[in-house]
Amino acid sequence: MSLSFPFRYFRKSSLTVAKAVMVWLMLALAVGVVAYFKGLEKTQQQASARLSEVATKLEIELDKYRTLPKVLALHPDIQQSLQFPEKASPGRINHLLSRYNQAISSDVVYLIDADGLTLASSNWDSSESFIGTDYRFRPYFKQAMDGNAGSYFALGTVSGKRGYYFSYPVRKDDQILGVLVIKVALTVLEETWSAPPFEFLLTDVHGVVFYSSYPQWNYHTLARLAPDTEAQLLEQRQYGSQPIPPLTDAQTIQQLSEQQQLRLNKDGQRLTYLQAHQDMSNAGWRLFVLAPVTLLYDDVIPGVLLFTLVYVLLYLIGFSWRRTVEARKQLAIINEQLEHRVEERTSELRDTNEQLRQIIEKYKQTELTLKRTQNELIQAGKLAILGEMSASINHELNQPLTAMRTYTETLCLLVERGDTESIKQNAAEILRLNKMMAKIIGQYKLFARKSVGKVGPVSVAEVVSASLGILDSKVSHYKDRLSVTSVPTDIQVIADAVPLEQVVINLLNNAFQAIEDSPQQLIRFDIHYNDNHVSLIIEDSGPGFSDEELNRLFEPFYTTKRKGLGLGLTISKRIVESFGGQIEASNINSGGARFSVILPRFTD
Ligand code: ADP
Repeated sequence: MSLSFPFRYFRKSSLTVAKAVMVWLMLALAVGVVAYFKGLEKTQQQASARLSEVATKLEIELDKYRTLPKVLALHPDIQQSLQFPEKASPGRINHLLSRYNQAISSDVVYLIDADGLTLASSNWDSSESFIGTDYRFRPYFKQAMDGNAGSYFALGTVSGKRGYYFSYPVRKDDQILGVLVIKVALTVLEETWSAPPFEFLLTDVHGVVFYSSYPQWNYHTLARLAPDTEAQLLEQRQYGSQPIPPLTDAQTIQQLSEQQQLRLNKDGQRLTYLQAHQDMSNAGWRLFVLAPVTLLYDDVIPGVLLFTLVYVLLYLIGFSWRRTVEARKQLAIINEQLEHRVEERTSELRDTNEQLRQIIEKYKQTELTLKRTQNELIQAGKLAILGEMSASINHELNQPLTAMRTYTETLCLLVERGDTESIKQNAAEILRLNKMMAKIIGQYKLFARKSVGKVGPVSVAEVVSASLGILDSKVSHYKDRLSVTSVPTDIQVIADAVPLEQVVINLLNNAFQAIEDSPQQLIRFDIHYNDNHVSLIIEDSGPGFSDEELNRLFEPFYTTKRKGLGLGLTISKRIVESFGGQIEASNINSGGARFSVILPRFTD
């Protein structure tokens, strides 16, 4: 199924996002793993450094006290107090031990006789005084009585305080008289390992924790204890008389030491630690340093976050770059489509333009033909008028012709008589008549000529005079019943003289015909003008118009006359309108017709 553009785009972009998320997941995992191992290496290095630091400090501390009992055991007062107990002054020895205890910053310094009974102690005056306590069961006593330097960690049976015991035999010659013991609290450890986030554990060879940075782990064993080992420890009351529970499931301390990680309970939580350890062979201890694995997150989380940030930034840059490229592509396509459309539209327009040009061309040709036809029509109209006037032309020419014939006959008689004077007079009369005829014919010829077709300023007086001239016989006939307003010769209209004469002749001719049968036979030719227009008004006392005539007067071929063509008014209207004027017809109240020709006036 095909999807429409936005959905297709949406599907495409969500696919891209899904791919990007998958790539991010894989790369983030890789970055996380690398950061984890880097962090692991760093943490292990830090843990090792801390381990050797603490171990060194502890060794130095232990070494400091290790030799002290040996030195003190040589003190003659101490030797004598054991050799001659009956002479000894316990108070003196107690004070001596007390002074030494203060000087070497130990916890307690005390003296045990060969039977294990404490004879003197630096804490002689405290409620936890060791004096009189039997320490035969303590290994450090046995070690010293065997002639060796002894050392031992244990909880104090009297004080209940833990401490490290250093012992040495007090001799007189080869005889061991007793044992001098120094108990050290090892507070240096607490000062050294109190700095988080590392945890420290100090265990004995069996894995029993006797010192730790988290006190609740003390007197627990890291790995399970063999039953006889546990029984022995209880017997020696090294860690008191309580059972020693395990902190882990490890079967042996060796197995546990080989593991990279340890899981221990702390504050009710099961926490995982990276472990490193170091054996302190002199003391027979093992020092553990534990680093919480959460420390690794300090490297992993910022690493992954930084990577994610860079990745997102790169993705956004890539995404926006791709969007820009796509948008550009789309724009290019749209542009191309647009250009194509513009091209199509332009071509359509060009076609339409061409069609229009052809139509205009045809129109022009038609107009030309029309104009030609119209001119021919005007010409035909003129000829029609001339045809109508042929009777009067005939009449006008007949009169001089008849007179000329009479004069010519008389001339012949006068030639026979030889009357030269009369011949001259007759010939002059014939010449006059000839000129008169030429004038009459000239007028009609002038009227019959074709217009030059130029519209311009035309004198109204001249047009009126020429028109009356052509209608001379009728004008003469109705001389007393025709009134014509005179008009100054400088009144001009914008027209063409010949067609305008034709209009005036048409209207006057129609008026002459209209009054033929009317009783009054009156015609008025008035000319009015103002600044803008000139009106030629022709009124007659004829029958006027019926309603139908008024509606159809200017229709081509409309006529009520027997020999009429019905073109005169049609042509007149066309001519007047071609000058920008108008022609109107109406009835006069007193009876008769009125034609008004209104033309634009020409002013300089
Ligand atoms: P024609 O004169 O050949 O009939 P016209 O176009 O000049 O053609 O006139 C058309 C008609 O208008 C005439 O037949 C006539 O009926 C009417 N007409 C024109 N002038 C007058 C007028 N002065 N009085 C009455 N009727 C007229």
